[in-house]
Amino acid sequence: MPEMPEVTVISEDVAALALGREVLRAAVFRPDVTNVEPEEFGRRLVGRTLHGTGRRGKIIVLDLGDVVGLVHLVISGRVLRLPEWREPDRMNTAVLEFGGEGDPVVLAFTRLWLGYFHLYESGEEVRHPLVSRLGPDPFSEDFTLEYLTSALDRKASTKGLLLDQSVVAGLGNIYVDEILFAARIHPTRKGSTLTAEEIHNIHAATRDILRRAIELRGTTFDSYHDAFGETGKYQHQLQVFTHAGEPCPRCGTEIIKSRVAGRGTYTCPACQKAS
Ligand SMILES: [Zn+2]
Repeated sequence: MPEMPEVTVISEDVAALALGREVLRAAVFRPDVTNVEPEEFGRRLVGRTLHGTGRRGKIIVLDLGDVVGLVHLVISGRVLRLPEWREPDRMNTAVLEFGGEGDPVVLAFTRLWLGYFHLYESGEEVRHPLVSRLGPDPFSEDFTLEYLTSALDRKASTKGLLLDQSVVAGLGNIYVDEILFAARIHPTRKGSTLTAEEIHNIHAATRDILRRAIELRGTTFDSYHDAFGETGKYQHQLQVFTHAGEPCPRCGTEIIKSRVAGRGTYTCPACQKAS
């Protein structure tokens, strides 16, 4: 599932391809993909210009002037560039065609089965239940050491807290495991037991790992090629995630897979002590 680095890359790709272009056609495959009637989806988007793209947590924000699109890609949903317009289908669940100079740009938002492409009036998008509850972005000024110290001062597991989008926006299973390995903290440690130094290490590792992952266009495990035909490269940098049974790159101990906060979790039992 796309996490913050992948969503950042997708958002930037959409901008690179379609910024300043006008929507010529727009359609969704099924009514449950969006929060408006399928016919209205096209009606509200056609004629609008893409003024900007952004990200709130794992949600892509499309600024179309009076209308704002919120796209939540889950499972392995992505954005593809199609060679020409085609009606949406089970794979290409929402399709937008942009006009402008040169060839039209047709973008498909794929596999929105559990995700969505919602439309809001400009300014109303902050009321979206997933957006209104988001904690600070890891790269924002609000994501300070002081903030993280108070947000983690709870009895829940550190992994569970970092996955909680109201604590930090945008983190998911892959990067939380990588961050906790880098910070040498076992995922089951209760947040309230972390020392100041450990919280400092989590804070630094969060920004370092996410920055590097964005540079490498994120992590892709499938054969997905993005809107520019490229694949992510960060999967080659993963230290523990998906590496069960292999030696820890730091100490050589075998990496184990367990279940924490309901998610498959990868740790080095030597580098990350449970207590
Ligand atoms: Zn180790």
